[in-house]
Amino acid sequence: KVGSSVRRGLELGEVFIAVKTTKRFHQTRLELLLDTWISKAKEQTYVFTDEEDEALQKRMGDHVIFTNCSTEHSHPALSCKMAAEFDAFLASGLSWFCHLDDDNYLNPQALLKLLSSYSPAQDVYIGKPSLNRPIHASETMPNNQTRSVRFWFATGGAGFCISRRLAIKMAPWASGSNFLSTSELIRLPDDCTVGYIVECKLGGRLLPNTLFHSHLENLQLIPRPQLLQQVTLSYGVFEKKLNTVELAGPFSQHEDPSRFQSLHCLLYPDTSWCPRPV
Ligand code: UDP
Ligand code: MN
Repeated sequence: KVGSSVRRGLELGEVFIAVKTTKRFHQTRLELLLDTWISKAKEQTYVFTDEEDEALQKRMGDHVIFTNCSTEHSHPALSCKMAAEFDAFLASGLSWFCHLDDDNYLNPQALLKLLSSYSPAQDVYIGKPSLNRPIHASETMPNNQTRSVRFWFATGGAGFCISRRLAIKMAPWASGSNFLSTSELIRLPDDCTVGYIVECKLGGRLLPNTLFHSHLENLQLIPRPQLLQQVTLSYGVFEKKLNTVELAGPFSQHEDPSRFQSLHCLLYPDTSWCPRPV
């Protein structure tokens, strides 16, 4: 019998990566991801969107999933997409579910290193806590009374992962139309609903991890030598300014405002469109 601390290397082939997007971001956000990190995890990555797009389908084949979810930024529309991601993961039979937004950069090797210290046969919910305290919510009970609940959740904009064993336990609240009904019980967004299911319905715990990052934190504070070890990074507006990781090059701010192309060239210098070192 092999000791539980001695685990064979986890392979990317065991991870299901779901990226949430919407029609208006196919060109502005998704193309950048396809050119960068998704090219290193093509077989494992599925994009969940709301409108058909021939160009995207041509590029991704059956790895783009057109949900029938509405294109709004409403709680129900986003919960509908999360449910579609969750169901596709359950059907895939893979060991790990990881959710990302379309403004995340994922480092697949850093992800594997992190997940390989856990077993998919344990209950694992790992990501970046959205707040530095549990969120309080009012839960509607079957008799229409309410009770106050508190729980931790991983911010969806930083990405998070769930083990297969935990996902199977979550299914009664998270699969199909159940996700939307569950989110209506607390009237909070999809990422909060995931935390609520894990902590309040199943008695599980979020494992907080500092390797996941959203654009709701100051990304300039991540020291350059540590950038290449992070599991996820992001870009976007924070306190009315464009918030990105701090990287001098190889591409200028103007050419590469998100800094994802520059980051990708540091991680994979042999990429065809990366400048050759002189
Ligand atoms: N999104 C979506 N439908 C919408 C708006 C946004 O599916 O109507 C997705 C978007 O593609 C991204 C995530 O939701 O993956 C978060 O959106 P965004 O970054 O624009 O907002 P944030 O919440 O980060 O400010
Ligand atoms: Mn965002």
